[in-house]
Amino acid sequence: MIFILLFILGLAVGSFLNVLIYRLPRNLSIFGRSFCPHCKKKIAWHDNIPLLSFAILGGKCRYCRSPISLQYPIVELTTAILFVLVFLFPNESIKYQVLSIKYLVSLGYYLLIISSLVAIFFIDLKHGIIPDKIVYPAVVISLFFLISQYLNILISHFLSATASFLFFFLLVLITRGRSMGMGDVKLAFLMGLFLGFPKIVIALYVAFLTGAAVSLILVLWGKKKFSGGTVPFGPFLVFGTLLAFFFGEVLLRLASPWLNF
Ligand SMILES: [Zn+2]
Repeated sequence: MIFILLFILGLAVGSFLNVLIYRLPRNLSIFGRSFCPHCKKKIAWHDNIPLLSFAILGGKCRYCRSPISLQYPIVELTTAILFVLVFLFPNESIKYQVLSIKYLVSLGYYLLIISSLVAIFFIDLKHGIIPDKIVYPAVVISLFFLISQYLNILISHFLSATASFLFFFLLVLITRGRSMGMGDVKLAFLMGLFLGFPKIVIALYVAFLTGAAVSLILVLWGKKKFSGGTVPFGPFLVFGTLLAFFFGEVLLRLASPWLNF
């Protein structure tokens, strides 16, 4: 039952994330009804139901018949699946009784950060920016969450955040911001706060590994046509964060013969 609720909640949140992904980089108000980006007609509520409307309309606007981006159902479905995963793979810090206040606060916090990460993934992929309007509130909420719920791990998570921030800040200085920008530096701080040590190390490792692999494939294909000719790094950071968050313990156990944790 909880799975279905979380899945439906994820679809609804994913639908809202699509609005953020479209409007934040264009500096449009996030309030107000959705409209078709082609004919600008307002979209009726019954044409705005996550997944279903896309399927019923055959992926086309009801009025001008221009195609609706596949991004819409993809974001909705991804968010829904991640919301269910949060419940399936409880972080070691939320082994409290379901429906206790502490559990619900933690669940809410994780869903919020994961939603922010999904928005960052697609905005950076399409526009090459990581909006402060998402990262700053997420950092403040993370600090507030740690202080109010997990004071015992606040220092270690804050140190992870600072170390990861400095690491990226140095990278940006050394590469003169060619491959990464301040957006990545701020996101790295958020990742540290969210994951703590040693998961932050896994997240960064996965991000660099997948980033390098994908860049190499794109170069070989001669398809490097992203913003400014570089591949945005934010999506890889988000991927690493999600992988470390959900499977961090498993990955650490697999790697433990070679590590000294
Ligand atoms: Zn239209």
